[in-house]
Amino acid sequence: MQYIAPLAKLIEHFRALPGIGSKTAVRLAYHILDMDAAQAKALANAIVEAKEKIGYCNTCFNLSDRDPCQICGSEARDHSVICVVEQPQDVAAMERMKDYRGVYHVLHGALSPLEGVGPEDIRIKELVSRLYGSDVKEVIMATNPNVEGEATAMYIARLLKPAGIKVTRIAHGLPVGGDLEYADEVTLSKAMENRREIG
Ligand SMILES: [Zn+2]
Repeated sequence: MQYIAPLAKLIEHFRALPGIGSKTAVRLAYHILDMDAAQAKALANAIVEAKEKIGYCNTCFNLSDRDPCQICGSEARDHSVICVVEQPQDVAAMERMKDYRGVYHVLHGALSPLEGVGPEDIRIKELVSRLYGSDVKEVIMATNPNVEGEATAMYIARLLKPAGIKVTRIAHGLPVGGDLEYADEVTLSKAMENRREIG
């Protein structure tokens, strides 16, 4: 079926989003056309505003509307413990748990030789330079419980070992192959509690 050009363009944009198939893309596009003008404009503005106002914290590389972010800038947090995660969504998951008081470092990916992702492609050197001369006592590797996440945790543990920094890995019990992002608070809390030293 041929859609008129502006509609086809809208469908195309929705289809490019993760987890949206052709049918959903069409449904969303028609839904937008059903909205009144003010609603549609508010949606468009929210997208533009999020892109304009949100950037990366230059310390932890989490998404933030300020630099340093709220967590890095907080005196209530324990800056001697850094929890390393793959994605900003993982920070949100950890924060939902509410009992972690340390800070974070977001790698923006995991090592994957098969997909050509090497150490220089994720924020590892930023983590190392952050630790240099700091009083960080523990780095908790909370990368995803899959092959890439494990490899990344081991790589960083070995990298930090000579510097005498304690590196721990969150416990299993998280669904293997799953994403940290989708773990419930109790599972995540247990995984943190039962972390062990690696490297
Ligand atoms: Zn930060």
